[in-house]
Amino acid sequence: MSDNCLFCKIVRGEIPADKLYEDDEVLAFRDISPQAPLHFLVIPKKHISGPGTVGQEDEKLLGKVMRVGSEVAAKEGIKHYRQVFNNGEEAGQTVFHIHMHVLGGRSMNWPPG
Ligand code: 5GP
Ligand code: ZN
Repeated sequence: MSDNCLFCKIVRGEIPADKLYEDDEVLAFRDISPQAPLHFLVIPKKHISGPGTVGQEDEKLLGKVMRVGSEVAAKEGIKHYRQVFNNGEEAGQTVFHIHMHVLGGRSMNWPPG
């Protein structure tokens, strides 16, 4: 847990979020500024600053983040979606608590640029 981290505050319930899934290890909630008809984030409750600091001890947890992202997308009726992690400011990371974006519900170009 990190005192000043926005997503740790969401985990602690200090900031409200539109939650789609929650258990003792992970949380999925809608992005406040959706970039697609379906856009939510999946985070581990454990504070990890980003993909670049995932340790060996976190491997199972991050696999669960992917699985939960897929299951929530399916529950929302979306079969085609993108799962994205940003690492570092120049890659678009603005919140330094690892989160996986799940985007779907519209066609998307590849590569994203
Ligand atoms: P990043 O740019 O770090 O990959 O993604 C951070 C995401 O968090 C952005 O898509 C942004 O819209 C979302 N976000 C920022 N603040 C909040 C918030 O308070 N609540 C929710 N639900 N999403 C947020
Ligand atoms: Zn955090």
